[in-house]
Amino acid sequence: MDICYLGNATSLKGRTNIKGIHGSPILPSVTVWMGTLIHEVRTSGGVDQCYPNTRGEPEPLPTEDCNTYNCKLPDCFCHGGSPNISRSALPMFVAITFDDSINHDRYNSQFRPFFVDNDYNLYNPNGCGLKTTLFVSLDAGDISLVKTLWDAGNEIAGHTLAHSLPVGSSEDDYIPTIEAIDGMRKKLLEEIGDSQLVNSIIGFRAPYLRVAEETQYKVLKDLGFLYDSSLVSTSLYRTKKPIWPYTLNYRNTEGCDNWFCPEDSYSGFWEIPLNAWIGDDGFYCWMLDGCTVGQSKEVATVKQWFDYFQRNFEPFYETKTPMSFYTHANMFDFYPNAFPAFVQWLKHVTRSYKDVWFVTLQQLLFWMKSPMSHEQMLAKNWGC
Ligand SMILES: [Zn+2]
Repeated sequence: MDICYLGNATSLKGRTNIKGIHGSPILPSVTVWMGTLIHEVRTSGGVDQCYPNTRGEPEPLPTEDCNTYNCKLPDCFCHGGSPNISRSALPMFVAITFDDSINHDRYNSQFRPFFVDNDYNLYNPNGCGLKTTLFVSLDAGDISLVKTLWDAGNEIAGHTLAHSLPVGSSEDDYIPTIEAIDGMRKKLLEEIGDSQLVNSIIGFRAPYLRVAEETQYKVLKDLGFLYDSSLVSTSLYRTKKPIWPYTLNYRNTEGCDNWFCPEDSYSGFWEIPLNAWIGDDGFYCWMLDGCTVGQSKEVATVKQWFDYFQRNFEPFYETKTPMSFYTHANMFDFYPNAFPAFVQWLKHVTRSYKDVWFVTLQQLLFWMKSPMSHEQMLAKNWGC
């Protein structure tokens, strides 16, 4: 059985006789994923191939710079912009994300107590529990836990099937990139059989933040993803101000902090940047378990970890820019003192700040598309 990846639902609607490369009809034994059709092609003798003849054409970058006249919500937001709400009325979002596979030990010790059973009685201003986003790869761990976490209201996002991506520099990398990114969703569907869960996966982070160049963005857009979260920003390190999520409609005029940044336009597609954290030695990191804490993370005390979390929270809170609290699922395995510090810090923030919301990245983007004040969110019972 070959797998054939073709276009999107709109362009294929009503077409029942789509041709393979040799003219034989592709039998639409179809799985629908977020508007993308994946045809499983059964061939009877001979080698039939499918070709991604409906992959989206690259959109050229507009020549003008992004501004609030040519780029408007809900589907366009300039790099470097901020919502049109005063700082005092803005909610403050903290997005906690964990990358990689989920095993039973980590589920029992760190995910279940915070994000399923709420053992520590931590609440958002609307009275609901805190939520996290898990960028999951399926190279290890227990797949069934993905569903348990999703059922509890957390977000599952893509991190490839086997924690690897092609380089992405050539056209030939398109199909392998599809297989890496969509293969994760496909395996989840096979193993768990929950199409709602699988269809909810619309965010992606590249393993090692090693972006598969332009191919990654083409594939994500063609597959119907809403956002990527692989690009980094040193804005906080340079200017003391972190940046907000933005769409990839226009050129980023402030330069590129990555070894690769997209050069085509991807209208309506969001980037949730990894705003740098600053370690105790003054150097920055993208994932917070990459910085130095105290003398070293291995020997840092609970207080040093707590201070590290709080010190990095403050510049975000100063501008109410969403805080990138991005780490790996194995952080607490390596640095046991980070765990009680995390508990203390969550208690401190949820009890000392009345306008801080711990949300998934999808929740953050839904808010970005239609921003409202903290008070409006409370009145609407937002996000439960
Ligand atoms: Zn990873």
